[in-house]
Amino acid sequence: MIDRFGRRVTYLRVSLTNLCQLKCTYCTLPDEPPTSMAAAEVERLLEIASRRLGFRKVRLTGGEPTLRRDLPEVVRRIAALPGIREVALTTNGLLLERRAAELANAGLGTVNVSLDSLHEDRFAKLTGGGRLADVLAGLRAARDAGIPRVKVNAVLMGGINDDEIESFVDFAAAEAVEVRFIEHMPMRDERVGQWRVEPRQVLERLGRDRGLEPLATSADGGPAERFRVGGAVVGFIHAISNPFCDRCNRLRLTAEGTIRSCLLTGGEVDLLGALRAGGTDAEVEERVVELFQRAADAKPPIYDLLREGSIPMRSIGG
Ligand code: SAM
Repeated sequence: MIDRFGRRVTYLRVSLTNLCQLKCTYCTLPDEPPTSMAAAEVERLLEIASRRLGFRKVRLTGGEPTLRRDLPEVVRRIAALPGIREVALTTNGLLLERRAAELANAGLGTVNVSLDSLHEDRFAKLTGGGRLADVLAGLRAARDAGIPRVKVNAVLMGGINDDEIESFVDFAAAEAVEVRFIEHMPMRDERVGQWRVEPRQVLERLGRDRGLEPLATSADGGPAERFRVGGAVVGFIHAISNPFCDRCNRLRLTAEGTIRSCLLTGGEVDLLGALRAGGTDAEVEERVVELFQRAADAKPPIYDLLREGSIPMRSIGG
């Protein structure tokens, strides 16, 4: 599917639930009623999206997707679709130790574990009580279960965890996982300026102290700028200071079943409503295809940070 600006849209990020066990400082919101699509509904939407529109990659996120008992079934159904080349998961890792083997067996190709601090106390504070040991056990279980790509996502925040950059580099080497430093994004958050970390300064510092060897972007053409640093591979995703909108290939399906055209801007299109509205298979399929195209056509050329920020990340699917 091609959007109005000639970008090929092939990647769907699916929020499987807006529930999460953690309350991260930059992601916390008042409790909302849980919403979620059935595994068969997610499968049906992706079957149409892959066969009719050329979607190739899916990322399951939330909320916390591992809270869904049927997550392995969701993965298995999607991974079995002929057009889908990769099923990825973004998780806080807390439940991964017990679920990694079944997710690997179901065909999960990539797992990104979110981890913003390697200090137990700081991690607990940042996440509203999360246990670092559980995340580390989950990360190692994912790697040991043979999930092909295991990565860590760390959101960098000035004065909060930017003193841990070198520790994360050492961690990446010791654990043989790629660590990606994510620029904090202003989602309804006035502390943006205060938390700002200048990515170029971090790269300069690492380059000076450790030496950076640029690597090709990942095989899926993702937005991370990647480097080898000693025995580690690290990536930087600068969605704010260096937006990758011109290469954006994604749409997002929210936990409520609406498509969001852009993380920070763009209209909502009620896809699940269209699926549930009834009619013949062919009628449903045509409606779904039309809504996907409408959502792609609503993709802005570049996001406008000033206009947005009213929708929580956990509902959109970060
Ligand atoms: N619960 C899962 C997890 O923890 O990975 C999936 C959902 S969470 C919303 C997905 C990712 O979005 C996490 O890595 C989180 O750090 C990131 N995130 C949330 N709010 C963010 C923000 N304002 N800026 C940058 N990243 C953010």
